[in-house]
Amino acid sequence: MTKHLYFDDPYLKEFSSIVAKVDSNRVVLEASAFYPAGGGQPCDTGVIIGQSEHRVLKVSKSEDGEDIVHEIEGSLDVGEKVEGRIDWDRRYKLMRMHTAAHVLSAVIHKKTGAMITGNQLGVEQSRIDFSLEDFDRAKIYEHCDEANRLIAEGREVKSYFTDSTSVPTLLAKGLPDVDRIRIVEIDGIDAQADGGTHVKSTEEIGRIEITKVENKGKHNRRVYYTLMQV
Ligand SMILES: [Zn+2]
Repeated sequence: MTKHLYFDDPYLKEFSSIVAKVDSNRVVLEASAFYPAGGGQPCDTGVIIGQSEHRVLKVSKSEDGEDIVHEIEGSLDVGEKVEGRIDWDRRYKLMRMHTAAHVLSAVIHKKTGAMITGNQLGVEQSRIDFSLEDFDRAKIYEHCDEANRLIAEGREVKSYFTDSTSVPTLLAKGLPDVDRIRIVEIDGIDAQADGGTHVKSTEEIGRIEITKVENKGKHNRRVYYTLMQV
């Protein structure tokens, strides 16, 4: 099983490891800081450096969910010592976007009871779909103002694993079946079962700006947002 370095330190940009498995240009390392796509968060990009430098094109979880699989340009050999470097600007924007999604969703859930029916994080723009009975655009902008007020307070974000089987989620479809659940908690705002990467304080998010609100039916009130530096 790949050691998932981003669980302990989402700010880790470079790391050393050893090639554990190779299948053509698909490479598994003993440890990796590369985030595989999942939970609406796109995968990281970057390079893996062995004898030469290999661009990382795509990162995904293995079918059994145990390994992080890097699809690279070229190939590597099992046992080779490597350095990994993730494209930090891209990852950090996604961490800010991801944490923003938590705060905005928590506020909308608290005010309306809405659940999340879909989401897609992006570097420039992200979207969240809500199952929301009453569709009131003005109210959604008000909820965003409330989210920004909380974000500016610099609330602490922490993560930990739990063996508990009863875990919180705002996902309408519930959670996949996994052995150990990782909880991401934003002080006084939100606690969610979650495998993604987040900033350590909400003030790093900046300010959420809603760019578009679309009504795609009761179960898909779609909110697009971007982030401003403050
Ligand atoms: Zn998250």
